[in-house]
Amino acid sequence: QVQAADVDLQKLVNDVHKQFLSHKEGNNPTYIPALAAVDSDLFAISIVTAEGKKYSAGDINHVFSMQSIGKAFNLAALINQQGAQAVVDNIGVNATGLPFSSIMAIELNEERSVNPLVNAGAIATVSLIKAKNADKKWKIIESNLENFAGSELTVLKDIYKSETDTNVKNQSIARLLSNYGRLYDDIDESVDLYTRMCSVGINTEQLAIMGATYANAGINPMTKKEVVQAEAVPKLLAVMATSGLYDDSGLWLYKVGLPAKSGVGGGIIAVMPGKYGIAAFSPPVDAAGNSVRAQLAIEAIAKKLNANIFK
Ligand code: GLU
Repeated sequence: QVQAADVDLQKLVNDVHKQFLSHKEGNNPTYIPALAAVDSDLFAISIVTAEGKKYSAGDINHVFSMQSIGKAFNLAALINQQGAQAVVDNIGVNATGLPFSSIMAIELNEERSVNPLVNAGAIATVSLIKAKNADKKWKIIESNLENFAGSELTVLKDIYKSETDTNVKNQSIARLLSNYGRLYDDIDESVDLYTRMCSVGINTEQLAIMGATYANAGINPMTKKEVVQAEAVPKLLAVMATSGLYDDSGLWLYKVGLPAKSGVGGGIIAVMPGKYGIAAFSPPVDAAGNSVRAQLAIEAIAKKLNANIFK
C-alpha cells in the first residue's frame, strides 16, 4: 500500500493544484455579502504531517474566514473545560439531517438535541463555555483556535461586520434555543461571539496545522503543545465525520472516507488520524455549501495517499 512516506508530498500538492487550477464550478456564497466579494480564483492547498512537515501550493498567503470550520475546533475548548459528556448532555451529537442553519432541527425531537457543527449547536457550544464575562470568553475561544493553529490569528473586520449586519437568522436560532433552555448564556452575546469566531482569518497552512493537531492526537506538531486531550480527539473526529460537510457529509465520507469540516468561506480541513491534516481553500461553493475545488483537491490527495479511515 502507498504510504505518505513513499510519496513526494510537495510534488503532490503542486500537481493537484495544477490539476484543478482552471476548474470553474460553483459560486461564492451571497448570503454573507462580504463573502460574495472575495476573489473566486483564489486556490490554495496545504498538507501538514503529524511530525510537523509542511507542504503547500497556490495562494497560501491568502487569509480567509474560517466560518464553520471554527465549530469543529471550538468544540475542543468546551470539552477541555467540561468534558466530552457535556456535549451529549447539553447539545447533542447526532447529525440533524437538515441544513446547517435549520430552525426545524431544533424542533425535531423532545430533547431539542442538535449537533455542534450546525449553527444551533455551535452557538450553544459558545454559550456553554464558562467565563467571567464576554471578553474573557472571547479570549478562551481565540486562544484555543490559536493553539490549534500554532500562531496568532485575527478577526477579519469586514467579514465580521458584514455577518453581524445580516445574521438575523442566527439570532432567531439562539432565541429559539433559549426558549427551550438549550442556550446557556446571554443570547446576543452568544451570537456575537459565534459570529466573531466565524470571522477569524486563516490561511491553508495554518488550517492544515490545526488538522495536523487532531492527526497528532491533540498535540500541535509545530509548538508541541497539548491543545486537547488525546482521548477527546476520536470524539471530535467522529462529529466531523458524520456532520462536517453539511448535507453532503454522508456522500463525502462515502467517497473520501476522511473526517473533515468545511466552511462557507471556501475552506475545508480533512484529517487522517496519526498521519496529517489536509487543508484546501477556494471560494466558489456547491449547492450544499462546500468549496468545489477544495473537495476535489482533498479527494485527489487522499486517493493518492490511500488515506481513508475505513481502510
Ligand atoms: N457564519 C456562518 C453562518 O453562521 C457560518 C456558516 C458556515 O460556514 O457554515 O451562517
